[in-house]
Amino acid sequence: MSLDSTSLMPTAPTGPYGSLAALEARSISAWFGQHKVLDRVSLTMAAGEVTALIGPSGCGKSTFLRILNRMHELIPGASLAGEVLLDDQDLYAPVRRITDARRQVGMVFQKPNPFPTMSIYDNVVAGLRLTGTRIGRDARDALVEECLAKAGLWKEVRDRLRSPGGALSGGQQQRLCIARSLAVRPRVLLMDEPCSALDPTSTRRIEETIAELVAEVTIVIVTHNMQQAARVSNQCAFFLAEHGTPGAIVEHGPTEVMFDSPQDSRTYDYVHGRF
Ligand code: ADP
Ligand code: MG
Repeated sequence: MSLDSTSLMPTAPTGPYGSLAALEARSISAWFGQHKVLDRVSLTMAAGEVTALIGPSGCGKSTFLRILNRMHELIPGASLAGEVLLDDQDLYAPVRRITDARRQVGMVFQKPNPFPTMSIYDNVVAGLRLTGTRIGRDARDALVEECLAKAGLWKEVRDRLRSPGGALSGGQQQRLCIARSLAVRPRVLLMDEPCSALDPTSTRRIEETIAELVAEVTIVIVTHNMQQAARVSNQCAFFLAEHGTPGAIVEHGPTEVMFDSPQDSRTYDYVHGRF
């Protein structure tokens, strides 16, 4: 298959999402300068599943997530070994454009980061400009409604699409960020502690959104909330960086196995809050 980036751009902006894609990390090691922070991490994040990345602070979860959509390349001094495959295609292949990798693998951060002075409407379609996708006014209106609806925000904001994104509550801003990610039709959505800054009601709304989205977008979520990992994920990977060693996966598997009968006692202790 051709890796020409233009062939991977969205062709039908109001059509169906791209087919569900699997993301595979193969033996990923990462450094910041001389400091090794990940050691040979391999993980397959299956199409149509929610994979939760869990583990204590500092064990490399956010770094790993950034590597999955090439945001890692923006950090000065960061280097990397290993491969990331999106449906068997090398995400780091030299012929691939970085914007294409980021379009196919979207990211939602811990702190909601809509463009605060930009309208809700313009926030949703902001990514289209960045990826060079041109669509007409009607298609754009339909896309805004569709993405806000998928993010569970349409009913709340339909009458104020021209209000600034920054005027929304924290939970609404996070759902706006999800809508913005969806507008470029990603095949995978990465979420780095998306609910850590939110109240319990907003957290529930995001979790409901995740449960609905996974039918069309493969999801990888970092969470420190074990109840949340149990509620939203099918698969879990437990990261640990013990005694100054680089972060590595201790164990991964189906969420119920990871919670009820993991192989490693450290996994059991961590998921049951005994760390
Ligand atoms: P987690 O998300 O699991 O808390 P991180 O991926 O943020 O872990 O961090 C893993 C390690 O990498 C930590 O030791 C952290 O200090 C280091 N690190 C993270 N980001 C940077 C950076 N931009 N520059 C240098 N070191 C970093
Ligand atoms: Mg982190």
